[in-house]
Amino acid sequence: MIAAIIKGKCPKCREGNIYVNKSVFPLGKCMELVDKCPVCGQRIKSKNDNAPGMNYAVSVVVYALGFIIYALIWGINATDNSMIYSFVFATVLVIVLQPWLMRLSKNIYLYLFIKFKNE
Ligand SMILES: [Zn+2]
Repeated sequence: MIAAIIKGKCPKCREGNIYVNKSVFPLGKCMELVDKCPVCGQRIKSKNDNAPGMNYAVSVVVYALGFIIYALIWGINATDNSMIYSFVFATVLVIVLQPWLMRLSKNIYLYLFIKFKNE
């Protein structure tokens, strides 16, 4: 299930891709979802996909994941005094990983609302 979330697979059958483009590039279309799963027909794109509530929920998860990355890096560097260096490094890392983090957040969000067919 974790692998399916990371790969952006359909929450219901875990076979069909839920993104129009497999890669996050071009970045402008990295969050573009398919209307329906090509394998099982599960509706992926909701009508209120661009509603403020949805964006807010995605943002919260993005920040939560960002915070986890900060915490991990903080933990790695806690034994030396390079705190500022690790903060800068963490910030750059979060910005660089942003497209993947946003996708991951959205995948987790979808998995919370669409149940696997055998569950
Ligand atoms: Zn499917």
